[in-house]
Amino acid sequence: MNHLTITNLSKTYSNGVQALKNVSLEIPTGMFGLLGPNGAGKSTLMRTIATLQEADEGTIALGGLDVLTQKAEVRRLLGYLPQEFGLYPKMSAEVLLDHLAVLKGLTNRKERKAVVQALLHKTNLYDVRKKNLGGYSGGMKQRFGIAQALLANPKLIIVDEPTAGLDPAERNRFHNLLSELGENTIVILSTHIVDDVKELCTNMAIINQGKVLLTGNPLETIEQV
Ligand code: ADP
Ligand code: ADP
Repeated sequence: MNHLTITNLSKTYSNGVQALKNVSLEIPTGMFGLLGPNGAGKSTLMRTIATLQEADEGTIALGGLDVLTQKAEVRRLLGYLPQEFGLYPKMSAEVLLDHLAVLKGLTNRKERKAVVQALLHKTNLYDVRKKNLGGYSGGMKQRFGIAQALLANPKLIIVDEPTAGLDPAERNRFHNLLSELGENTIVILSTHIVDDVKELCTNMAIINQGKVLLTGNPLETIEQV
């Protein structure tokens, strides 16, 4: 389960936009940065890896799983923080996490409570756990997003443009949280911010107009741009 292998993935939307053109990537355990400008195809790639969208051609393998067909199996291993995710504004973080934990299969109440409390501590939301999510700042919402993505010990975590719209202090906090995730887990971080990748990732790819331009470690790769 320690590699995600994407081979010749292509996607053209019904409006004719070619969002992915023959994308191939080898993504190991640790933090992997997918860097590219708006419209590059990052979200399309992330949603496809997250089993939320079909590709026209190509394959994605996670360990021995075929991601594009074995969706239920992949979803059990997956933590996903989409670019824009809906929160229930009148629900507290604690209650929503508890509900999401039920959906993830944590049916034992005691066990679930322990998991939820641990995640609230980890994401620094414990003190505001009873507040309604509608009153959260952007940074708090993103940290809640990480908490929900971490339910049920994912082996693959997908984080789509997490720091867009965060102020520097919130971004820093979020970076500290993300940097703890990479052990024994594949974490894919999509972003248009070069420093996100420099500060957090051990491997990266640059994508533009649906094509992978470069892959490697951030220090060498970013220098070539
Ligand atoms: P598909 O080609 O996969 O069938 P569609 O063209 O039917 O996709 O669009 C799916 C959804 O994405 C629709 O709800 C559509 O409004 C929305 N959508 C269309 N164009 C864009 C765009 N440029 N960026 C983001 N979403 C879009
Ligand atoms: P990024 O996440 O890098 O901004 P996207 O994957 O969202 O890139 O978009 C890649 C290209 O595909 C863009 O030109 C975008 O407008 C287009 N696109 C994205 N989603 C849809 C959709 N559902 N229907 C049609 N076009 C889309």
